[in-house]
Amino acid sequence: LLIPQIIRQCTEKFYSHRPITGMVGDSFTTTLTYASHHANAGITKAAAMEPDEVIAEISASGLCGRGGAGFPTGTKWKMAADANGDVKYMICNADEGEPGTFKDRITLSWFADLVFEGMTIAAYAIRASQGIVYLRAEYAYLLPHLEQVLKARREAGLLGCDISGKEGFNFDIRIQMGAGSYVCGEETALIESLEGNRGEPRNRPPYPTEAGFLGQPTVVNNVETLATVSVILARGAQWFSGIGTEKSKGFKLFSVSGECARPGLYELPWGSTVSGLLALAGGEGAKAVQIGGYSGRFLPAAEFGRKLAYEDLGAGSSVIIYGPDRDLLEVAENYLEFFVEESCGQCTPCRDGNVVLLNGIRSLRNGKCSGQQLDELLSLAETICVASKCGLGQSSPKVLLSINRYFRNEINAHLTAEHSARST
Ligand code: SF4
Repeated sequence: LLIPQIIRQCTEKFYSHRPITGMVGDSFTTTLTYASHHANAGITKAAAMEPDEVIAEISASGLCGRGGAGFPTGTKWKMAADANGDVKYMICNADEGEPGTFKDRITLSWFADLVFEGMTIAAYAIRASQGIVYLRAEYAYLLPHLEQVLKARREAGLLGCDISGKEGFNFDIRIQMGAGSYVCGEETALIESLEGNRGEPRNRPPYPTEAGFLGQPTVVNNVETLATVSVILARGAQWFSGIGTEKSKGFKLFSVSGECARPGLYELPWGSTVSGLLALAGGEGAKAVQIGGYSGRFLPAAEFGRKLAYEDLGAGSSVIIYGPDRDLLEVAENYLEFFVEESCGQCTPCRDGNVVLLNGIRSLRNGKCSGQQLDELLSLAETICVASKCGLGQSSPKVLLSINRYFRNEINAHLTAEHSARST
């Protein structure tokens, strides 16, 4: 019983303007900004504004996408609003497949109304009439709950025709299941999948805001982004932009897992330090932390003072903690197995390069890799990063590159005798 109070005190001490924490099962969470949202206050306020004013409000808030890319939400909406099309689409990306990430699952479980409210606000702003939630296949168990929430919203006049009594404001939402592909979290692969095609990223331009689902202007926003939209409309852009840093506005949900005493979901203002989060989660003795799930890089203890912010550690929202005894090369092998499995196979650097990286890491762990072979492996890793088409291939080698940069001693311990002295 005391532990939540202790965490609350820590939170208040370190993050005095976000004094919230709670506990559900064995998960600690600080999502009370959502929990305290006055139901549908956002959509009520939006409906009293002109669509362009809603976009201006979101732009003024400084909200950037919470799915990992960090693109300014208001700018994305403006591009879709200005595009010509027979019909416009609002898509919620609920294909949360990054290992170590569960913030969207919890948001959909507890705050589905906020997500649908945010979708409706976005639809009003860009004048979309149809909405689709692309739900991760592994989250199929959420489907009955989400359908029930949608049904209740239709019955309350919050979906359908003349929403919130606003004549001509017509919008409805359907849910389409994904099929278990990691790369479909990328918005153009998601759209391909929605259209019934193989889930492969498209070439850009054109961007979805211009020619997305079925060739029509489409906005794809992440679950957390949309839930946050509802809160911003209700409480105002000024309130939101007053939280965080100059370049990273507002608060953020972080999925915290790994070797720590209190894994769970944490809501923090942008600009919080890694060490502050580790103190909350009970992971102070960590050897390394990975920001951004498997796609992120390892951060050593010497850099735990860095900030969780777009301008520092990027947009990643999953924090995986590794204890002092963890074999990072074993972790890297596990990651590469995952990426080899999930590569869509469209481009050669990712499809073939990740297999070579995986085999190289296995050779290294088995003591069969020379220094020269390692150098070739590192060179290949850099090539895969720059030559791959989408985020999967652009980030999959980061794990090996960051071990080489920050934990070179773990590599040296495995090299054959004639190893070279390359260090970073
Ligand atoms: Fe597919 Fe990988 Fe190329 Fe992305 S980088 S398009 S996942 S092969």
